[in-house]
Amino acid sequence: MSGPSNNFEWIFDDIPIINGTQISVIAYEPPDEKKGDLVVQVKLADLQADPNSPLYSAKTFEQLGLSPELLKGLYAMSFTKPSKIQERAFPLLISDPPKNMIGQSQSGTGKTATIVLTMLTRLNLSVKAPQAICLAPSRELARQIIDVVQDMSKFTYITSELVVKNTLPYGKYAQSQIIVGTPGKITDVIKRKQLSVNDVKVFVLDEADNMLDRDCLGDQSVRIRNMLTKDPQIVLFSATFPEHVRKFAARLAPNANEISLKREELSVKAIKQFYMDCNSEEHKYETLCNIYDLLTVSQSIVFCKRRGSADKIAQLMKSQGHLVGSLHGTMSSEERDHLMDDFRRGIFKVLISTNVLSRGIDISLVSLVVNYDLPLDVLDQVDFEAYLHRIGRTGRFGRTGVSIILVDSKNTWRQMRQIERHFCKEIEHVPTEDWQQVEKIFKGII
Ligand code: ADP
Ligand code: MG
Repeated sequence: MSGPSNNFEWIFDDIPIINGTQISVIAYEPPDEKKGDLVVQVKLADLQADPNSPLYSAKTFEQLGLSPELLKGLYAMSFTKPSKIQERAFPLLISDPPKNMIGQSQSGTGKTATIVLTMLTRLNLSVKAPQAICLAPSRELARQIIDVVQDMSKFTYITSELVVKNTLPYGKYAQSQIIVGTPGKITDVIKRKQLSVNDVKVFVLDEADNMLDRDCLGDQSVRIRNMLTKDPQIVLFSATFPEHVRKFAARLAPNANEISLKREELSVKAIKQFYMDCNSEEHKYETLCNIYDLLTVSQSIVFCKRRGSADKIAQLMKSQGHLVGSLHGTMSSEERDHLMDDFRRGIFKVLISTNVLSRGIDISLVSLVVNYDLPLDVLDQVDFEAYLHRIGRTGRFGRTGVSIILVDSKNTWRQMRQIERHFCKEIEHVPTEDWQQVEKIFKGII
């Protein structure tokens, strides 16, 4: 092991590789060279043994009573121990008689995995018809969830399928035991009798607050729920449940078991939040280009306000030789799938997007999130939940992450301060004029 001068290299020594991904350092204190400090590193196993961590569990997956086939699936995915939400929620979710659940836990702590395990465990294996429906707010998230279902159920005979735009042509039927999709398409296929709901006994909304808070998604989700004849178990999961949505959620899932977090517990410790001052829109763009080298150290997502600006920035960056992609809701399904698959494969490293990707997307190599524009609601006020979800695209399951807000006006600066106060978490300043310093700060963490 060498001294503090090159500790950015040795910090990554002997960290296990899981699924081809280096499990990254979770707690990082920048070393104070004068004091001869050493880098502090905590590994995933240590973190899962720390009762204060959301990844902690006192139990093993065996103790949660999973079938041997599912255990085999989990181990093949390199899951060694449950996280806190998995340990707490799962036994409640599979208890009999079934009870509804409204579950909250920080981003990247295994909520989606809990949902999937629940659906897989609840099925009556002899019934070869849809028994569980899981809705997600975006095509990208639905595709990701079906992948998790298929990975976890690899050693079982359970059937599952994705029902989103362009997946179920007229005349075909969705007959798999688990159905994952988006509300619009699922509503259509139920109405057209391409999907029978007679046996559906589990109904899940991932990113539930977002689903219920957005007019059309909320209406469609409730309508689907009302089409289910069997009085299903209703499971609502998210990292955030603002008060007004929680009331709505409680009506949709009456008498639910609830697991909730306080606001100050919401932000993930391993995500370091920064801001950089920019003195104009042009300077903001230049700053983004200047940090391009940092953005490509691993992978990153840049969030913009509008589709138009995401495209514009992507085009400008491409014209300067940078390898970036942009994804938003007006693109065709094929384009979206293709782009997302390429990003997951690491074919390009910077993805410029809108809120469509702010929820649930899990790509372990994303270590940097840039808020090119802050997320605002219809009244132009900061959308705290969207901010938290955006930065939660990094720092997944014990990995470190960095988020940067590009502040280009007094107003944005004020909004950045509001975010700090809201989550009781400091957002540190990084100078825009000293690039060596910027690099040192970021590369030390990523
Ligand atoms: P959330 O829905 O809370 O944001 P996910 O369920 O997407 O979190 O999980 C985040 C990441 O952690 C995913 O890559 C998932 O495969 C992984 N993961 C989830 N649970 C475990 C576990 N118990 N052990 C190891 N990895 C896990
Ligand atoms: Mg999730």
